[in-house]
Parts: sequence; structure tokens; C-alpha cells
Amino acid sequence: MRFVKAHSCPGCHAQHDAVSGWNNPDAMPKAGDFSICLYCAIVTIYCADGTMRVAADDEIPDPVRLLAATHPTAHGTSKLKH
Ligand SMILES: [Zn+2]
Repeated sequence: MRFVKAHSCPGCHAQHDAVSGWNNPDAMPKAGDFSICLYCAIVTIYCADGTMRVAADDEIPDPVRLLAATHPTAHGTSKLKH
């Protein structure tokens, strides 16, 4: 896990200040990387200025779509609070 500049999820507005890569927990996100919100499971894309935007449905690769769809918050079962 890496700490990053605090930012809001464009889907649920939860504040995030840390990230964890899927296959490398210490990787820092770069422009074009996908992210799945820990709280609402929305898929976002990192922009060059460090902000995030909601990914359009046709931009989301199938593996990322599968991860988001099977994320606990995608079904309202998350115990996470924000
Ligand atoms: Zn969210």
C-alpha cells in the first residue's frame, strides 16, 4: 500500500489517501491506470494531473469489469464505513 495525495471518489465522494496495486501493492498509479473504489466499486481512471474520472463503460477491460462486479461493495454487502 502507498499513501497518495488525498482525493475524493467521483462516485461516492469517499476520501482516499492510499492505494494498493492488484499485483504489486507498492506500485504508484500513473495516468491511464484503472482503480476500483474500496467503498462503492465504481471503476475510475487516473488522469495525468493526478485526479480521477469515472471510466466509460466501453473503456473498462473485461478483467477490471470482473473485479469490480465481484467486489463486496458492488452488492451492498461491504462492512466498510466512510
Ligand atoms: Zn466510491
